[in-house]
Amino acid sequence: MARPRSRAARIGARQGARGLARDAAKELEDAGVPEPVASAEVLLSELLDMRRGDLTLRDEPLTREQAALYGAWIQRRVEREPVQRILGYSYFRNLRLDLDDHTLIPRPDTESVVEAALEVIDSRAGTCRVLDIGTGSGAIAISVAQERPSCEVHATDNAEGVLQVARRNAERAGATVRFHQADLTSGLEDLAGSIDLLISNPPYVRSTDIRELAPEVRDWDPRAALDGGWDGLDFYRRIFVEAVPLLAGEADAVLEVGDGQAEDVLELGRRAGYRPLGTRPDLTGKSRAVLLRRRRPPDCA
Ligand code: GLN
Repeated sequence: MARPRSRAARIGARQGARGLARDAAKELEDAGVPEPVASAEVLLSELLDMRRGDLTLRDEPLTREQAALYGAWIQRRVEREPVQRILGYSYFRNLRLDLDDHTLIPRPDTESVVEAALEVIDSRAGTCRVLDIGTGSGAIAISVAQERPSCEVHATDNAEGVLQVARRNAERAGATVRFHQADLTSGLEDLAGSIDLLISNPPYVRSTDIRELAPEVRDWDPRAALDGGWDGLDFYRRIFVEAVPLLAGEADAVLEVGDGQAEDVLELGRRAGYRPLGTRPDLTGKSRAVLLRRRRPPDCA
């Protein structure tokens, strides 16, 4: 006889939400899954389309279909598939963003990078044309477009499939973002000399560190969105140089960096003709965004 897929699936149909989430959390904990209570409760509240805090108020049992689906989800989580991949979407600032296998799960860290970008936008006068390089699900670009609607926001990704996901996400948010399929900034000649603010969360994990990452990241996030080359800094080198033709006379850059990379990235920028302006922390206090500015050198006569 086939073994029932999960304990939660077997008992689910007889239990109210509270008991079910508790049993599922125990199952996840026994399997060594990190933050088992959060996983069990978030999955169940999304499945029932209710707020996580309201789960305890719900006593009626799940339908057989709901219980079977929840059991299958818990089993996937046992196998370390991240909650957001199981759901197929992720929350980010004001947004609900669809994901696919080729988009990185947007991180809370990146919400702080958006915060830094908005600060820069608010401190600038005049035009506001923004470019997000390597947009993935569109988290940064769509947030900026939604939260600063007077900015003209452009975003690139090298994969057309990813751009389709991002376009859908922008549409759902009612935000206008101009998406371009591009290897970083290639082929964007129409924007030459006009970008006021460059933003990016590029891949920044050292190639050899990828195997040390949590299974949720290592096995489920697209490698192309993580791998920053031997020292993790490949994309910063390229962005600093390749973006130059697109930048307005005085342009800002806000880039997400990995743990401990801020000083190195600021220095790379300095060598490429940008002025380092500082860093901004994420919610855990680590330097997560670096800020730089580049003034176009006067034409040599
Ligand atoms: N923040 C991701 C991680 O910690 C990496 C994302 C990236 O490389 N930009 O795994």
